[in-house]
Amino acid sequence: MKIDPSPTSNSFTLSTIGVVHSCYKEKFGIPKQPGLVDSATARLELLPPYNRMDTLDGLSEFSHIWIHFIFHACIKEGWKAKVRPPRLGGNKKLGVFATRATHRPNPLGLSVVRIGRIYQEDKSVFIDLHGADLLDGTPVVDIKPYLPYADNITDAKGGFAPEPTQTKPVRFSELAERQCKAHQNLHNKDITILIKQIIEQDPRPSYLSRQTDREHGIALWDLNIKWCARIDHFEILSIEPVHGSRT
Ligand code: SAH
Repeated sequence: MKIDPSPTSNSFTLSTIGVVHSCYKEKFGIPKQPGLVDSATARLELLPPYNRMDTLDGLSEFSHIWIHFIFHACIKEGWKAKVRPPRLGGNKKLGVFATRATHRPNPLGLSVVRIGRIYQEDKSVFIDLHGADLLDGTPVVDIKPYLPYADNITDAKGGFAPEPTQTKPVRFSELAERQCKAHQNLHNKDITILIKQIIEQDPRPSYLSRQTDREHGIALWDLNIKWCARIDHFEILSIEPVHGSRT
């Protein structure tokens, strides 16, 4: 990091210390916060010159980390002083600094994430992440351990988002169920819980949230998950490979 030591400096350069490899290949479908889809797995790869196990010495004693990252996929769109949180149905505007909006003056994101294995493969160093809300390719600028005694504030007020949003149950069509089973046979991986947890969050933009029967698609690894909202539930329509390989 290049830092102008002058106290009047108002500009800093951060360097990317790592990159996230995640199941979320597009912004659409990513949960609004970490921990909501706890079956989502990702891994954070440290980049040179930080790809050294000694930078992580002691971290395995912690269960969670704070990840400071760059909202790299929306930098070009800039920011606005007032934004419409999806939580408020897109009807009410709040100050950008009163929200967790992605379009900010400095495109910095902050997520608390459960960690798994910390390991080295050849010259690469990885931390497994559980329940991250991060797009594949997200640049990471810092990692810090989550300190329960200081970071867990039990009497904190939640402003316009005091609780997780209410949701509808998720059902799989016969076709989708068959495709999940075929995927499991081929890859030895059950993706039904992950898909259910993602769709339960209702990823639709607020202006579409009252519509039913409209088809949506979500890119998960190399799969395209097609689904739609019915009146009282979400339906998973199909699970197709993006590149035409057979699921
Ligand atoms: N927990 C973070 C992120 C909240 S916003 C924070 O509070 O700062 C969550 C949204 O960020 C997700 O729905 C996803 O669409 C978006 N997102 C995740 N990674 C991103 C990236 N690298 N670039 C742009 N948007 C991203």
